[in-house]
Amino acid sequence: MTATTRIKRSKQMIRMVRPCELTSSDLIYPIFIREDKKKCEIQSMKGQRYYSLDDCVDVCNEVVELEIPAIMVFGIVKRKNDDGSVALQKNAFHVKIFKKLKKELGEDLLLVSNVCLCDYTLSESCVYLEKDKVLNEKTAEMLGKIAVAHAEAGADVVAPAAMCDGQVRHIRAALDREGFDDVAIMTYVKTDSCLFRPFFEAVTLAKTPRRGVDSSKFRTDIINEKMFMQKVNLDISEGADIVIVKPALTNLDHIFRVKQKYPTIPIAAYQVSGEYAMIKLLSEYAHVNEKDLLIETLSSIKRAGADMILTYYAVEAAKILQGKE
Ligand SMILES: [Zn+2]
Repeated sequence: MTATTRIKRSKQMIRMVRPCELTSSDLIYPIFIREDKKKCEIQSMKGQRYYSLDDCVDVCNEVVELEIPAIMVFGIVKRKNDDGSVALQKNAFHVKIFKKLKKELGEDLLLVSNVCLCDYTLSESCVYLEKDKVLNEKTAEMLGKIAVAHAEAGADVVAPAAMCDGQVRHIRAALDREGFDDVAIMTYVKTDSCLFRPFFEAVTLAKTPRRGVDSSKFRTDIINEKMFMQKVNLDISEGADIVIVKPALTNLDHIFRVKQKYPTIPIAAYQVSGEYAMIKLLSEYAHVNEKDLLIETLSSIKRAGADMILTYYAVEAAKILQGKE
């Protein structure tokens, strides 16, 4: 008999020899909060819903009870403008969100803020462009201002999503200058992927997202691991505290590679909307057990080296892991 066969005889032994464990403490729940207060299911992400400023505290309390340490906030503003400067208004929607959540939940829940221009610009572009050329410095400077506004309102961590050069450097400098040197930067590094589509539909509230903007030009070529690592190297050199690998399932090798190269940098993996939909659809059409598939995918992401996982399944996963479902 081999060692594996002996160990697999006992559930207790299997648990004891595990080099890592998936728990609710690994999870981050991304939530969508709408300024127009419309509460409904998210069409492109069945099972997920929009929250309003009035009712988002309830779900946050549930998240805290389930020992999920953090949420990622996606605010959907009612009125965008050309340059996205609505983000900096005194009563900006995101400012209201962070003030409210910090007041209600205090230190019980870590608030992560998605920082990108597309949340505020009419064109839904993540960056400023001039004749198709990305204006890196101008974009990064604006992202720094947005990060400060969110930090001031109560965000604990900021997550720059535009993937433009210099964004982490500018945000770090802006936060430090304004006295928010304790606010961490969790930077997204994304590969090109069609798995983002259900998310775009969810945040743009439209079937044809990102009018006139090819956001794929900011992401790395899916088959080129060197390009991905160059982006990781850049963001870490600019001061990123945590790296988010996105999507997760198609980038398990990237998670592993970043972990090997930067063992002291925490890694987050984002199980994106398309991965969420794949699990839903497989359970619906192929009779695969949804809970089993969920835990299997999250376990593989954890095993690859992720220290934390952003997933729309966070609440369900925590219940399963705690034996509540
Ligand atoms: Zn964006």
